[in-house]
Amino acid sequence: MSTQAGDYDVIVSGAGPAGLAAAALCAEGGLKTAIITGPLDPFEKRHDPRTIALMRPSMRLLRHLGLFTDDLRALSCPLKTLRLVDDTGGIFSAPEAVFDATDAGWEAFGWNIPLEDLHPAFANRAKELGVAFISASATGVMDGRRELARVRLDDGGTIAAPLVIAADGRRSRIRQTGGFTMLRHDYDQVALGCFFSHSAPHQSMSTEYHKDQGPFTTVPMPENRSSLVWMVRPGRAQEIMALSPDELARRIQLESHGDLGRISETTELKSFPMQALNAVEYAKERIILAGEAAHAVPPIGAQGLNMSLRDAALAAELAADAHAFGDDIGSDEIMARYDRVRRRDVFPRKAAIHLVNSALLSNFAPLQALRAGGIALAAAIPFVKDIVMRQGLAPGEENVPRIMRETADGEAA
Ligand SMILES: Cc1cc2nc3c(=O)[nH]c(=O)nc-3n(C[C@H](O)[C@H](O)[C@H](O)COP(=O)(O)OP(=O)(O)OC[C@H]3O[C@@H](n4cnc5c(N)ncnc54)[C@H](O)[C@@H]3O)c2cc1C
Repeated sequence: MSTQAGDYDVIVSGAGPAGLAAAALCAEGGLKTAIITGPLDPFEKRHDPRTIALMRPSMRLLRHLGLFTDDLRALSCPLKTLRLVDDTGGIFSAPEAVFDATDAGWEAFGWNIPLEDLHPAFANRAKELGVAFISASATGVMDGRRELARVRLDDGGTIAAPLVIAADGRRSRIRQTGGFTMLRHDYDQVALGCFFSHSAPHQSMSTEYHKDQGPFTTVPMPENRSSLVWMVRPGRAQEIMALSPDELARRIQLESHGDLGRISETTELKSFPMQALNAVEYAKERIILAGEAAHAVPPIGAQGLNMSLRDAALAAELAADAHAFGDDIGSDEIMARYDRVRRRDVFPRKAAIHLVNSALLSNFAPLQALRAGGIALAAAIPFVKDIVMRQGLAPGEENVPRIMRETADGEAA
């Protein structure tokens, strides 16, 4: 397919959760928006072993879009307590750290939502808001220095708009052909994910057990069910993936020290390679990078999609504001502002995740001491604990897109 100039204000490439959020918010902000879906149908529910812990600012985005319906809520679980257990058995072990949402005056830190349900919910809402869905893949981008950036499609067509939001994942074609430089670090780890049932209640608590090959994290789902994110070396991952369902249940019970009682009904394990990716620039020449097209981090501290939703909301906010004043929505000024604000949020989080992960894998005693000391400090000193809790959810309010900021009268998690 091909379009005429003026058909669209914004083209989003990639209908993953980050792209769909950006498209829905752009449309809601009055911009004519098209989304290039890529190879997968975003409306179809496909099993995914990931649940996404969305923190308070992200929950505001979902509520703003009217997306956290009773149906989605029934499939999700509030996150009331976060617990860190040092299970490394090293010389420097931290005491257990427990962060309770009520300590910060909140009902919950956020909600844990199955990605297989969240993803189609985003797609349906974007469609209701008038986003045009284009079933094709982007093969490249050109003309970003002119008045319109032009996206090439694999059906031979092109589609042009003053702003392109690239949310087409880790191997983004738009990023590659748009001249962006990417920094990449491959960890010698994979993350294994599945759901499981347990006999003891989780009490809306997520526990991150720090082990010598990476964190083993249980995240609560409705009733006595949880999801697992288990980071290990590839060799051990192969061994775990070969276990029978009963053996896997027994292993999860062992690794979680029986905290969740008897484990059963494990779903099939899926493995995700662990990489850190980061674009040197997040925006230039009418192209904004969002979600994993811009940055990817290992699943520690539930940061990935929470950061990506802030990308989506800021991109939509800047574009809608410029549009309302009749300004160019893909101007260099907007590119520079997006780059600056998103960098301030992403860089420290990426660094903190890298430090925690590297310290777990390292035999270097000072690094282990630093990790254990950091956790102990956060657990013991109320004002450090408060900073960790608030900054863990989002950067300072001035760097958070408007729709994700706390309202003066407070609100539910
Ligand atoms: C085990 C695990 C647990 C996690 N838990 C959490 C958590 O608790 N909290 C959290 O915030 N994050 C979490 N994350 C991170 C989160 O899953 C990701 O950040 C998020 O799913 C990435 O979304 P995205 O839209 O950026 O990318 P993707 O989901 O990869 O979407 C990219 C889209 O682009 C499409 N596409 C590809 N090529 C093209 C093309 N050429 N043209 C057009 N479209 C294209 C693809 O089909 C896809 O739909 C977790 C990750 C893992 C691995």
